[in-house]
Amino acid sequence: MPNFIVIGAGVSGLTTSLELLKANPQNRIKLISKQIPTDFLFNSNYTSPFAGANWESFATHEDKWQQEIDLVAYHKFKELAKVPESGVVNRVNTVWITKEKFKQDKEVVDYPWFSAVPEMNFKKLKPQDDKIAYGYSFDGVVISTTYYLSYLWNECHRIGGPSNRFTLQRATVKSLTDLTFDESSPDFIINCTGLLARDLVSPAESTKLYTVRGVTILVENNLDQLYVVETAEPNYPDEMLYIMPRKEGGCVVGGCMETGKDFETTVSQEQRDRILRRAKLYVPQLFDASGEVSIVREQVGFRPAREGGIRLELDDEFGKLHSGTGVALIHNYGHGGYGYQASYGCAEKVVGIVNDHLSGKKSTLKRQFKF
Ligand SMILES: Cc1cc2nc3c(=O)[nH]c(=O)nc-3n(C[C@H](O)[C@H](O)[C@H](O)COP(=O)(O)OP(=O)(O)OC[C@H]3O[C@@H](n4cnc5c(N)ncnc54)[C@H](O)[C@@H]3O)c2cc1C
Repeated sequence: MPNFIVIGAGVSGLTTSLELLKANPQNRIKLISKQIPTDFLFNSNYTSPFAGANWESFATHEDKWQQEIDLVAYHKFKELAKVPESGVVNRVNTVWITKEKFKQDKEVVDYPWFSAVPEMNFKKLKPQDDKIAYGYSFDGVVISTTYYLSYLWNECHRIGGPSNRFTLQRATVKSLTDLTFDESSPDFIINCTGLLARDLVSPAESTKLYTVRGVTILVENNLDQLYVVETAEPNYPDEMLYIMPRKEGGCVVGGCMETGKDFETTVSQEQRDRILRRAKLYVPQLFDASGEVSIVREQVGFRPAREGGIRLELDDEFGKLHSGTGVALIHNYGHGGYGYQASYGCAEKVVGIVNDHLSGKKSTLKRQFKF
């Protein structure tokens, strides 16, 4: 009866817990987390509630491994869009590349790898105004993140609760050693701590972790399509536009991908104005006849990025140091701006590593993620 301690209740920890519960009816999970989805105020180090979120894989054409990982969640989210309480909704995902971005890309038209996936219904679009170089659309989804995290949370309880296979401990883990499960050593520890992995891993590993700041504004307007506009404004190269209409109403409007701004936890008037100016320029239907839109709230989140991409592996060093206890440590953190779209693929890989470890096989995972 393998006993697991999963640390972290973001999308990575919850999806991993759920997939472990489903993978083997003998698996027992103790989820330890500082913050959980039902908390009212989220610490900015807990990224998952702050995301947009959509599925739009960033994998390059060559990176088959990441494509394979991302595709798992695409199919899963399409299934979840049929489950009313999941907070996932089908949306046509329209992407426009502005002329200035096209110029920056050396005028190379680059359709994503998933344009070749038949079920995505990928279409090349004709530009509708002269600011746009080209565009495309596909059948996407929008995930209302706080609903969805609660859904994952409830699913873990539904599947694991009655037989006591899923329990929760609200705590901050100070060290990955000496964790106990029913007063004994666990069989596995799964580290899904996002940005705060930096407090638990070696100093050398910790320096690889960094934040990518994101700003979102929730507005009242209800569109029925998701828009992404890839811009390249010389003074704001880390900013772009996305508009994600959520299932429960309202649109999330963003955004930016800024590094080195760990301490900017509020949205400046200038940045808010820029985001709304872009929205008005490219998606004017977001605004009413007098050019206004009502803001519900705005927030800043920090994507948990890592040099070299996600750390998704069995920690051999830890295994050697703790060989007497039999505890195995698996890392699943550093998902940057793609933690939702990689969530099911990564959780599937964790289940694979666990099975390989239990059967004495060495996992042959290649880490190829790039932010
Ligand atoms: C503005 C914005 C937009 C985004 N849009 C998208 C998108 O459209 N699509 C997409 O796929 N991704 C998107 N992302 C990225 C995505 O949100 C992240 O990759 C993902 O949320 C990371 O999840 P996580 O579970 O790894 O980390 P987190 O959500 O940060 O969770 C970490 C968990 O670990 C706990 N924890 C940490 N340290 C400890 C400790 N020592 N002891 C106990 N508990 C601990 C925390 O309390 C928390 O519960 C976006 C992010 C932002 C900010």
